[in-house]
Amino acid sequence: MPERSKADVVVIGAGIVGLATAWHLRHDHRVVVVEKEAGPALHQTGRNSGVIHSGIYYRPGSEKAVLCRSGKAMLEAFCRERDIPQVRTGKIIATTDPSEDPKLEALAERGHQNGLEGLEMLNAADIRALEPAVEARSGLLVAETGLVDFRRVAAALAGEIVEAGGTLLTSFEVTGIDQAGPVEVQARDGRTVVAERAVACAGLHADRIAAMAGVDTGLRIVPFRGIYYRVVYGDVVTRPIYPVPDPRFPFLGVHLTPTLGGGLEAGPNAVLATSREGYRFVDMRAGDLVNTLGFPGTWKLARNYWRIGLSEVRRSASRHAFASELRRFVPSLRDDWLLPAGSGVRAQAVDRDGNLVDDFAFELGGRVLHVMNAPSPAATAALAIGEKIRDRLVAG
Ligand SMILES: Cc1cc2nc3c(=O)[nH]c(=O)nc-3n(C[C@H](O)[C@H](O)[C@H](O)COP(=O)(O)OP(=O)(O)OC[C@H]3O[C@@H](n4cnc5c(N)ncnc54)[C@H](O)[C@@H]3O)c2cc1C
Repeated sequence: MPERSKADVVVIGAGIVGLATAWHLRHDHRVVVVEKEAGPALHQTGRNSGVIHSGIYYRPGSEKAVLCRSGKAMLEAFCRERDIPQVRTGKIIATTDPSEDPKLEALAERGHQNGLEGLEMLNAADIRALEPAVEARSGLLVAETGLVDFRRVAAALAGEIVEAGGTLLTSFEVTGIDQAGPVEVQARDGRTVVAERAVACAGLHADRIAAMAGVDTGLRIVPFRGIYYRVVYGDVVTRPIYPVPDPRFPFLGVHLTPTLGGGLEAGPNAVLATSREGYRFVDMRAGDLVNTLGFPGTWKLARNYWRIGLSEVRRSASRHAFASELRRFVPSLRDDWLLPAGSGVRAQAVDRDGNLVDDFAFELGGRVLHVMNAPSPAATAALAIGEKIRDRLVAG
């Protein structure tokens, strides 16, 4: 007889957003988290840059701005109280071309509006004094940026959910959702969880879970793969160095990020992936590809972004192109300093008109609350996102 669990709330997905939601619910609700993999944090949460974002990039008042700011404070306190290593390195957003000056000024203005402390405009000499290997015309020092290993945060959240009496069911791939009575979440292997409410935090599969629950959100998850390289000389820079992002694109551009273990990573770029969990260039899933290409928004997206897309593909195919991009601000960096170091796939919601959904997006359908768009900085913001979801559930 397949196992049948009961809960007040079932959370689908043990990435950092699902875990943070369950963590906030753990004392006052019977909570069950279901995860298709053998453990938590094996997709976006475990394959990202590990940057605690400051909130500088996001439109003031947007969910991203508000939840990144409060989530960052909650995350830092969470780590401090549990001795999870974190470090406030600050970061430099560097310009290499005069056309970037107004964009940098606009970012600084945004940072002030979002309440960031310690923002400082830098000239070329200031930058060289802080980071001797970096050659830039000007830059913005963002003092609040930090580093953490989000896998450790996810593991701590999962541990505390279970400690409080919650349950984590792994290898539980949700294949059906029935809302005729209380919500029944069904797994491929026949197990079920019956609950009063469900929260779907399925990342790269958010739209599929919404479809299972009978909700038409008009959104499709389009997967964007990004590759990383390890930089052999890990001490070339001491803090993250970012380019000025292209405001038409939600990704931040290839950057250098020190890791907590003392190394240095370069990446990630952003290329449309042929498989939602395709971590290698050759990974392709016909179902995922048909699903992506069959959505009108994908073609409109391709028309809107083909120029940026082509240069990203070039960077993906060639280490030299990748290194050239980094040499814009670290001229001494050589191609052979870069060793392949894995990849991540971002879940980015796209609407039918091909617009990349900019803000976090939530959709309520019956008894299920769907997190439809939780790209970067959702790892930083997760504790605030989880709190918001908890408050929404409690309010009914
Ligand atoms: C390359 C890259 C770099 C990034 N860098 C940063 C950064 O530096 N800082 C930052 O704040 N953010 C960063 N992000 C964004 C951040 O990682 C994500 O926003 C965040 O991890 C999203 O968490 P999540 O829980 O929504 O998704 P995920 O971590 O993807 O978790 C979703 C979970 O749902 C599970 N699931 C899916 N379908 C089912 C199903 N049918 N049944 C059961 N379980 C299911 C999956 O297995 C998965 O474990 C980055 C992302 C990427 C990809």
